[in-house]
Amino acid sequence: MYYDCIIIGGGASGLMLAATLDMKGRKGLLLEKTTRLGTKLLMSGGGRCNITHGGSIKEFVNVYGEAGPRLRKCLYRHSNTDLTSWLEAKGIPLTNEHDRIFPASMKASDILGVFLDSARSNGWEIRTEAEVYDFKRNDDGSLTVMASPADSLRTSRAVIATGGITYPETGSDGSMHDILRAAGTAITPLRSALAPVYVEDYPYEELSGVSIENVTVTAFSSDAAATCKGKAARMTGDLLFTHRGFSGPVILNISRYAEAGQLIRISYNKSLDDLPKRLRKCLEERSKGPSGDIRTTRLAALLDSDDFTVSGIDEHGMVTAGGISLDDIDTASMKIRSLSDPDGSYAVYAIGEAIDADGITGGYNLQMCWSTANAAADNIRVSLI
Ligand SMILES: Cc1cc2nc3c(=O)[nH]c(=O)nc-3n(C[C@H](O)[C@H](O)[C@H](O)COP(=O)(O)OP(=O)(O)OC[C@H]3O[C@@H](n4cnc5c(N)ncnc54)[C@H](O)[C@@H]3O)c2cc1C
Repeated sequence: MYYDCIIIGGGASGLMLAATLDMKGRKGLLLEKTTRLGTKLLMSGGGRCNITHGGSIKEFVNVYGEAGPRLRKCLYRHSNTDLTSWLEAKGIPLTNEHDRIFPASMKASDILGVFLDSARSNGWEIRTEAEVYDFKRNDDGSLTVMASPADSLRTSRAVIATGGITYPETGSDGSMHDILRAAGTAITPLRSALAPVYVEDYPYEELSGVSIENVTVTAFSSDAAATCKGKAARMTGDLLFTHRGFSGPVILNISRYAEAGQLIRISYNKSLDDLPKRLRKCLEERSKGPSGDIRTTRLAALLDSDDFTVSGIDEHGMVTAGGISLDDIDTASMKIRSLSDPDGSYAVYAIGEAIDADGITGGYNLQMCWSTANAAADNIRVSLI
């Protein structure tokens, strides 16, 4: 069976593409390997779905690390205001909480509902329990997408929207990256990000649940950890102590830069008296000399530079760092260059979390799904004329 376009993955990005690309009079197919569509979208924002960030799109370019400038055009062309206008036109009122945009109902299911309704009215056939396990190029330039249960589907346009590796129970397990790697596509190693960070000899187990505002955390690059000179990233925000390690927005955001064996430095940006009592006691305890007296220089050093060696990043990150390398993607069209015909007779696109781009918390990751999905949709639309 021939399809004009096949989307692989029924998460946020695959559904956004189907919701904005009209396939009426054409044959469009979306394949989702699990029984449910948009599982991670439903989990987003604690079920409330922080769909994007308010403010100027200019700021977005700085929140995706090295990927930001490379996605600039795509973000500007399909911006946060385009996303909010599209949702409002579809009858979803939105609300802004400290520049985080949510559906006014605070229900991620409302957002999923709009994507599904729009995808269906755009003429997409949607199949669940259909896992793509390989694809190959045919002599005539078309692609054969192999999906289980046994099915061989031909197309000239395939879209990889298979997400990353975190929360594999949602279906996003990185298996498509293995298939792409075997096909010769460049894949940046995948790892959990926007996740709690664990450190060696963590001394704050008893502080679990305590949070502090306005803390600066520096992650040093591994080759500079011994000298504390080369920093990979420095961020300021709220820090949360858990019974196993550090969490809270500042830690989640810096986790993409932290690696096992590397040093992270916590600077509390407060005097001892301004810290929560339990932390104060802990720091004083750690500053004591052999005779039990508090060493004031050690205490002052801890306040400014509470240093730890990272032992690991929690596997349940909200996003995946790494993915299909942007070196192999034309970010105007989201085509994977190594798998697409330069003359345009066939193309494989990559969108959303499957690509090597991830942002900080605040709605930026779903915005990236929207911007990349629409960039691919623009290109496919033109190719269908
Ligand atoms: C707890 C949590 C909270 C979050 N909150 C927010 C938030 O508030 N705001 C925000 O911006 N971001 C948030 N995120 C991140 C955001 O949800 C994701 O970045 C986004 O959902 C990724 O969408 P995606 O479509 O690219 O990938 P996914 O949602 O992972 O979808 C990929 C889909 O592809 C399917 N698939 C995989 N392989 C195959 C295959 N071989 N064949 C067929 N189908 C396949 C999977 O089953 C899955 O359904 C959150 C993430 C988590 C985990």
